[in-house]
Amino acid sequence: MSRHAQFHEAIVTGAERLTPNMVRIRFGGVDLGRFVSSGQADERLSVIFPLPGTDRPPRPTLSNGIYGYPDDATRPPMRSYTVRRWDPVAAEMIIDFVVHEGGVAAQWALAAAVGDRVGMTGADGWYGPPVDAGWQLLVADMTALPAAGRIVEELPPGARAHVIIEVIDPADEQRFETRGDVTYQWLHGTGHGRTESALPAAVRAFPLPDGPGYLWFAGEASASRTVRKYVRGELGWPASRFEILGYWRVRKEEWLARFDVVRDEMKSALAHANSVGSNKNEARALYDEALERAGL
Ligand SMILES: Cc1cc2nc3c(=O)[nH]c(=O)nc-3n(C[C@H](O)[C@H](O)[C@H](O)COP(=O)(O)OP(=O)(O)OC[C@H]3O[C@@H](n4cnc5c(N)ncnc54)[C@H](O)[C@@H]3O)c2cc1C
Repeated sequence: MSRHAQFHEAIVTGAERLTPNMVRIRFGGVDLGRFVSSGQADERLSVIFPLPGTDRPPRPTLSNGIYGYPDDATRPPMRSYTVRRWDPVAAEMIIDFVVHEGGVAAQWALAAAVGDRVGMTGADGWYGPPVDAGWQLLVADMTALPAAGRIVEELPPGARAHVIIEVIDPADEQRFETRGDVTYQWLHGTGHGRTESALPAAVRAFPLPDGPGYLWFAGEASASRTVRKYVRGELGWPASRFEILGYWRVRKEEWLARFDVVRDEMKSALAHANSVGSNKNEARALYDEALERAGL
């Protein structure tokens, strides 16, 4: 089911500073009670924010089973966030927001109060280790910490995983309950738009265990590109053995201005990647190569 086949209005029922750079928001409401989880541990949805001067998100229109905002002028801001926890009985959802300078979503989260309303689409995700994976390497920066936490919490008993997480401050570390056999490596103070991410070097330094494994990586887009080149190009892993995702982009505004110049060319490159890539992962890698060739 497409992520955009659902739309729910969600009401803030609680907001707390979870760690120095993370705000946890609880959502509820009758409409959110109809949310259908994809069941994927890294499932994300689009949070739809109210337009300036309004206090609730505009309702999208439904066309051919898909919700959307066809009018550019009235389209509200939307950002991707991970469903950190969904309790279908209590109809409660938790989303953890990294707070940073600027940004509609980060500023909304910082000011969120009980009774505030946002929209939410349905959710989908990518995490999916092959059945023969004897070990997993899970790598995340703070934006992907909610997804990494849920993946760890949902590991089957005895599943072997090494988790590398980059946080801004040592106090941003979190603890997870798990039935898996998990080791942790926390990196402090790097990445997050402050310095280059240390995650690509940490992935490269990880001594690969024997036997087939699986890598899930999510973080800043240029760090994810570096890791994809290593895993796909140098290690030569097949697409089924990794999921490498860019969750956000440092200095997004500058990148978007450069992207605008080659927008049509990149649209064709994306269509080409989707037509020749043997799966979504491969298509993503081919499109990323086209972006890089265009200097993006
Ligand atoms: C599948 C997926 C799941 C995600 N899950 C989560 C999640 O659970 N929690 C979460 O916090 N984020 C998550 N993100 C990342 C989040 O969507 C982005 O960080 C988003 O850009 C934030 O929107 P904004 O409106 O605050 O900032 P934007 O308007 O997008 O950007 C404003 C400025 O802030 C910069 N910026 C954006 N994000 C960050 C950041 N994290 N740190 C420093 N600078 C930043 C941009 O480069 C830009 O200069 C996820 C992204 C994806 C694709």
